[in-house]
Amino acid sequence: MIVVMSPNATKENLQNVVKKLESMNLRTHLSTGDERTIVGVIGDKKIIANLEMEMMAGVEKTVRITEKYKLVSRDFHPQDTIIDVDGVQIGGKEIIVMAGPCAVENLEQLREAASAVKKAGAKILRGGAYKPRTSPYDFQGLGEEGLKLLRQVADEFDMKVVTEVVDREDIQLMENYADILQVGARNMQNFQMLKALGKSTKPIMLKRGLSATISEWLNAAEYIMTGGNENVMFCERGIRTYETFTRNTLDLSAVAAVKELSHLPIVVDPSHGTGRRPMVAPMARAAIAAGADALMIEVHPHPEIALSDGNQSLTPDDFQKLMANLGEIAKAVGKTI
Ligand code: PEP
Ligand code: MN
Repeated sequence: MIVVMSPNATKENLQNVVKKLESMNLRTHLSTGDERTIVGVIGDKKIIANLEMEMMAGVEKTVRITEKYKLVSRDFHPQDTIIDVDGVQIGGKEIIVMAGPCAVENLEQLREAASAVKKAGAKILRGGAYKPRTSPYDFQGLGEEGLKLLRQVADEFDMKVVTEVVDREDIQLMENYADILQVGARNMQNFQMLKALGKSTKPIMLKRGLSATISEWLNAAEYIMTGGNENVMFCERGIRTYETFTRNTLDLSAVAAVKELSHLPIVVDPSHGTGRRPMVAPMARAAIAAGADALMIEVHPHPEIALSDGNQSLTPDDFQKLMANLGEIAKAVGKTI
């Protein structure tokens, strides 16, 4: 439920509302807008069903929330959330680009990729150190050595690091190296890991599961937020459909859906979303037009010898060309890049 305070409610009115709710063992979540404050209420459904708040001074109305997710919902928090990643803001007017190789392979590869993507305008370096590969015989990533390389190279080029966590046991270690922890599509419903990430101090990028509905995805984010970590962003990376020409079907309608239902930022990954190099740039442009807050793009200095996802990786040259023409689309939707 949410309690909507009237525009002229006093501080004391608000305190009394919060006090009453907390005295009934309910958790409150304040969202202060320009006009009015909204108090989100979470707790025992039976207690909430019998709540009478309209009589209290300063209360305009109460609204029942039927969806299971609350903290994630735009009803709870009407304004867009902006996540501060150590100085880089995701969810505001500026579209942020995360780019780099699928997997960290070695220092030279990572440096070449970082140097190119930074020059073209990316602010966040991506790269997997723990790779969730379909086959156990494929390259599984460099582990902690990969994390060290990511941190070293990102610092060298004044970039932030986003990298995937595949096991909750690794979270603490990864916090020493990464600025954003990525939950991959295959782990979107790893609820134990989501709960553990709720206690993390780092922002989380939650990729959409291979066949997850929007509602399942939003509920997965709620798992993280209920643990206390409010810095969650979504990442649309394509879903499984009957189409085989593309690796996945990039669901750009998810951008509009998430914007309608949630206040959290959304990133689009056209690399995994299509699996095909020629389609990455058009889909990156479309993502911005659809309202994405950020892009995640795989770039490899030599895609033909990449240890993973070479087919969908842009060359530094392709990436530079793409970045050069995103500005006009950003401008058309009231953003910058
Ligand atoms: C990745 O970003 O490297 C990755 C493995 O993505 P996904 O979880 O979307 O497949
Ligand atoms: Mn990849």
